[in-house]
Amino acid sequence: MKVMKFGGTSVGSPERIREVCSIITASGEPTFVVLSAMSGTTNSLVEIADYLYKKNPEGANEVINHLEKKYDKVVDELYSTDKTKRDIKEFLGKEFVFLRSFTKELFTSFEEKTIVAQGEIMSTTMVEAYLQEQGIKAILLPALDFMRTDKNSEPNLHEITGLLSKIMEENTGYQIYLTQGFICRNAYGEIDNLQRGGSDYTASLIGAAINSEEVQIWTDIDGLHNNDPRVVEKTEAVRQLHFEEAAELAYFGAKILHPTCIQPAKYANIPVRLKYTMDPNAEGTIINGIKTQGKIKAIAAKDNITAIKIKSSRMLFAAGFLRKVFEIFESYHTPIDMIATSEVSVSMSIEDKSHLADILSELKKYGTVTTESEMSIVCVVGDLDWNNTGFVAKVTAALKDIPVRMISYGGSNYNVSFLIKQSDKKEALQSLSTALFYS
Ligand code: ADP
Ligand code: ASP
Ligand code: MG
Repeated sequence: MKVMKFGGTSVGSPERIREVCSIITASGEPTFVVLSAMSGTTNSLVEIADYLYKKNPEGANEVINHLEKKYDKVVDELYSTDKTKRDIKEFLGKEFVFLRSFTKELFTSFEEKTIVAQGEIMSTTMVEAYLQEQGIKAILLPALDFMRTDKNSEPNLHEITGLLSKIMEENTGYQIYLTQGFICRNAYGEIDNLQRGGSDYTASLIGAAINSEEVQIWTDIDGLHNNDPRVVEKTEAVRQLHFEEAAELAYFGAKILHPTCIQPAKYANIPVRLKYTMDPNAEGTIINGIKTQGKIKAIAAKDNITAIKIKSSRMLFAAGFLRKVFEIFESYHTPIDMIATSEVSVSMSIEDKSHLADILSELKKYGTVTTESEMSIVCVVGDLDWNNTGFVAKVTAALKDIPVRMISYGGSNYNVSFLIKQSDKKEALQSLSTALFYS
């Protein structure tokens, strides 16, 4: 069975929903479909939660009213029978009463997660009703019944596989199995999520759990491009990527894929195909285990990075120094992206700044600490095996006019990364693009 995931824009309007339904039913084969919330909905739900944290129920109600009007219009345009219109209006009515009920409650992250989960619950219920109205044998399998994370907030693939296999055995004979992307239950049974953009991750986890033949990620662009199309003028789709290349690009900022969504597919060796919803015949990008010798494939970047340097004369010959430094980051659950060491100092970069003040005060016990914020990691990805000569010279030559704070290579044979000022990112991406792909 194939898994097909459609993002927010792909289900963002009645026309798009109709188009998605024709794509998923075209083969006539049983298909597992993962849907995001309609575009803009999760942002609105996050906005509602922000108002409620700030004890501003009027602000929250205004966003809820706006959202309700938008959905009302979609229902009027999408369905052809009065019965389905009535049923879905009743369902959505209850959803909006539910959202309004939070404006009277004590507000914590538990309520926030329940609120942001409603976008996917609404989109999937609406699509299930549309498919049934069209006479398609479709069933909605609630993600909250089988998507599970563990105590470290990591997906628990073993538990997901067990729960989903049982659900699939109990529900044979359908053409379309629908579920919500993004949402899950945590180790304590509470509603949680796989972070923003997490529907891609849901699709890949389901692919691994049901041993799918292929996971397809359908979105609003024709495959993964060789550079960030939001920043660089001329970009084009890369037709094939190795799992490791795609994983590096996703982790280092290629927004088309959730940062960790390639991992489950890679371990289960399931190809991931990126497809363009607005042009289903376009080739897209295939991600699999095939390596292209010596080829640089793409460039990605991620912003809001902080560089931290700790300088300590005590580091000299001190075997346990790095362990002590890393333990501080570990105790605050803060991943380190890049590392560079010298005789008396070590520089690291982090993205999650939520515990920065605590981390810095603990690091100061071991030496002099300096930081730089508003930095970007720029990452060049391809077959960069260290025996392939020339690529480092090419990449660094392209960055000759840009101040570089850190360089990282050798962690994998698939990426070389540079830490630069965020304000230099556009120029760096443009100039790498010209040097590596268009000269
Ligand atoms: P969805 O809502 O379908 O999950 P996303 O907005 O998360 O879609 O991802 C698709 C977007 O990712 C594209 O519209 C594009 O602007 C952006 N993007 C960033 N980097 C890349 C890249 N290297 N290749 C393709 N798209 C990219
Ligand atoms: N709806 C969620 C978000 O906007 C998840 C997703 O679309 O992947 O982040
Ligand atoms: Mg996305």
